[in-house]
Order: sequence, then C-alpha cells, then structure tokens
Amino acid sequence: MQYPWPKFSQVAVRDYVSGAMENTTAVIFGEFMHGTARDLIDVDMNEKIVAHEMFHHWFGDYVTCESWSNLTLNEGFANYSEYLWMEKKHGRDAADYHLLEEWQGYLGSLRSSPPHELIWYDYDDKEQMFDAHSYNKGGAVLHMLRNHVGDEAFFASLKNYLERNKLSAVEVDELRIAFEDTTGEDLSWFFDQWYLQAGHPQLSITTDYADGSVAVTVAQTQRTDNNVPAVFRIPVDIDVYTNGTATRHHVVMEEREQTFTFPSATAPDVVVFDPAHQLLAEYDYSKSPEELEAQYRYAPAFLDRYEAIGLLSNQEGNEELKEELFTQALQDTFYAIRGIALQSIEEPTAEQLALIRQIARTDDRSEVRATAINVLTQSGDEELSAIAAEAMDAEPYAVVAAGLEALVATDPETARQAAEKLEAIDNSSISGALAGLYSEAGALEKLPYFEQQLGKADGYEAVALYTAYQSLLAKGKRHSRPPAWRCYRRWLSTSRRVPGAG
Ligand SMILES: [Zn+2]
Repeated sequence: MQYPWPKFSQVAVRDYVSGAMENTTAVIFGEFMHGTARDLIDVDMNEKIVAHEMFHHWFGDYVTCESWSNLTLNEGFANYSEYLWMEKKHGRDAADYHLLEEWQGYLGSLRSSPPHELIWYDYDDKEQMFDAHSYNKGGAVLHMLRNHVGDEAFFASLKNYLERNKLSAVEVDELRIAFEDTTGEDLSWFFDQWYLQAGHPQLSITTDYADGSVAVTVAQTQRTDNNVPAVFRIPVDIDVYTNGTATRHHVVMEEREQTFTFPSATAPDVVVFDPAHQLLAEYDYSKSPEELEAQYRYAPAFLDRYEAIGLLSNQEGNEELKEELFTQALQDTFYAIRGIALQSIEEPTAEQLALIRQIARTDDRSEVRATAINVLTQSGDEELSAIAAEAMDAEPYAVVAAGLEALVATDPETARQAAEKLEAIDNSSISGALAGLYSEAGALEKLPYFEQQLGKADGYEAVALYTAYQSLLAKGKRHSRPPAWRCYRRWLSTSRRVPGAG
C-alpha cells in the first residue's frame, strides 16, 4: 500500500526521553542515530529502528490500536518491519539472526515475569504494555502467520486490513477478519492461541528408526498456568534427511503428544523439525554429533548451522568431528556462524589458527574481526603484535578497540600513548575499550575521562561505563585516597551546580 501521508521527515535530537517516536510525518530519534559513516560501519540497529518508525506510519498512525491492551497491533507490526527490512536488504540469514535475537528477548523476559496474553487486559500500568510481548512476541507471531498463509496472502491481507480500517482504531478481531476474508480460512485457532492466550509451546522431540519408517514423537511440555494452552495447534514441516537430501512432510500437531511416522528406506542422517524456523517454541531435542554434522552440512538455513555448531560445542568428546566442522564454520558465508565458531574453539589447530588470524586481519564484518583479535589476545598469539598494529589502523572502531587491547598485551607503553590519542574520539566502542583499560590498570588519573564520557552515554553503553568507573573508584579507595580521588570528590561537589544557573 502506498505511503499514506504527504511527507516523511526524520530528526535526531539530544536528551530524548526514549529511543525514537513515530510522530506522523516527523519521526524523532535519540542522539544515537546521529553518527559518522565510520561510527555506523556494521551497525544494523539504526536501520532497523528507521524501518520500525517508518512502518508505524501504516501500523500505528494510519490504523491505530484502540487501547493499550491491543498495543501489539502497533508494536508487533513495527517490530516485524525490522525482519522484513533485514530480509530485503541483507538476506534471509541476517533476517533469521535478527528473529533469533527477538525470540531470545521474549524468552529472556519470562525469567523475570510470567507470560501473559499478547492482547493483555490485566496490566496494572500501561507502561507494562511496552514489553517483549507487545514488541518481540508480536513480531514473531506475525512471522508465523506469514509462514502459515504464504507471502501473497499475508501482504494482501495486510493491505485489506489497512484499507478497511484506515484512520480508525482497531482491536485484534479486525486483523483476524481481514486475514479470514482474504484467505477464506477460519483462523480463530491461530488468533486464540497466539493473541488471546499466553505462552508458547515447549517441545520435547525424539526420533526413532525401525522397519523402514522414521517415527518422530513430539510432546508439548509447557506448563498450563497463566492461561497457557495445554495444546497449541502446530502446523509444521518436518524434513527427513537421507543421503544428504531432504524429504519434506507437512503435519499438523493437535494433541499434547503425537507421533508422526514417515517411510524411509534407510535410517535418516538427521530430522529437522520446522525447517523454516518460524515457530516460536523452545525445544528439548538431543541430537548426536553425527546428526549435528549432517544438519550443518545439508540443512540450508542459518539456524540449522548456528544450532549445529552451538550444540556440538556443548558436547563432550568427538574432537575430530568438532575440529572439522568448526574449521568449516570459520569459513561460513554468514558472519554470525564465523562468530559462534570463534567462540566455540578451545584449542585451535594450526589450520584453524591460520583462519583465525586471517579473520582478525581481513574479515569484512567488524565484530567478527574484533572477536578473532580478542581470541588471539587471550591466547597470546605469536603474531599478535603485527595484528594489533594493523587493527589500530583499521576503519571500524570495534576493530580499533580490539586492537588496543591486543596492544596492551604486546606493547603496553605504545598502548598507553595510543589510548591517549583515542580519548578525543567520540565513539562507544572506543570509550568502552578505554574505560575497561583504565579501570583494569587502576588509572585513577583518568577519572575525568570517565566523567566526561558518562555525561554523553546512555543505555547499555552507560551501564558498561558506570561498571568500569565503579571498579576504578573501588581500586582508588584501597589506595587511601590518592590525589586523583580527592580531585574527583571536588568535581562531584562542584558539578551539582548547573552551569549558567548561578
Ligand atoms: Zn514502535
């Protein structure tokens, strides 16, 4: 659907109360959005936020949720636009990696508070609505809906929903009816379980092979308090791999426990449940190292490879197989796989070490390059000194920051001089590295640097800075208040006076 407003402006401002706001035709962003091209190398977050606020111009501004309880009709869509943008701009792997982080955000939030319905009538304060349900789960549910009805029907349904409800307030039934009228399918089961009930399936999956057939037994083990359904209806594909080729079976799970049986001439290499990786669920699924190897080699999705490397690194033994797969993963086309491989390798072989050094020198994704430099710094690699020098001249600040830490290990005096030069750079990777360094070294004379940076930082960056600052101050205390410490106290007592306020 065409953009429904006469203009679209974007403004970055200082001291903004939140990250960004979708004021119709004039989006406001916090100061983080404003950076040099060098600051923004490999920073995906900002473009996702641009997509998010822009999408609100349809979902939120043109069609608006009728109450806070229905907030996901604004935020779930804006959240899902981030996936759509990543998919279009950076490809499916990058989009699925983003979705994984969104799932993790939602699942992580359940550690501190119980699940609630996505359309939530029982909140105490409207601020509670701005949570990982309305955003992360809301986006994940739309992704499942898209996978269920298919792309053509999904986008046609959204167009229908927007046209029917333009410039008015909606609740979730309007969304359901737009999808049902477009697709001709009764979708009350989907909307009931995902929007009006709480939680997500927890699945325990086992596979068996006997007499020419593969049996896949799936049990739903989620607790059923907090209005979580005992049985989610789960239409899903199951891929059975034999000799490296998948045979796809579509099944619909409608019971608490169900066994699906498929013919197979030989024992499968591996069974992949939900190969599209669209289902919001938690899994208890133990796979042998050989199955994980087959999954890494043959299954095409990013999450297949990511899961295979992650699970394999947690298993004892099978060193030969791990070595082979981790070596391949270091050369994976997608950066997050190279990243998880770097973190999984404990004692690199000569071949792996050569690859890690190459990543540290030339990887085109800066955080992966930085991780490789960190790995080499930890192990005291013999080429570290040269790698550190190259990193200090690199373009991305994340690489410079990792290079500085490597330089501390190889040539502390040069590192000290380089650090002082870097103090003038206003970038969170650099200030984070300097803060860590100064705190570690107990450099109390650098307290003014922290104070200057703390005035500018916000979010996670501020938390990291405060943590380093606090640990540096704690070191200062043990030194019976050296001059720098007293100086800091003086600064604190004068800084309470607002400049220019008399
Ligand atoms: Zn939003």
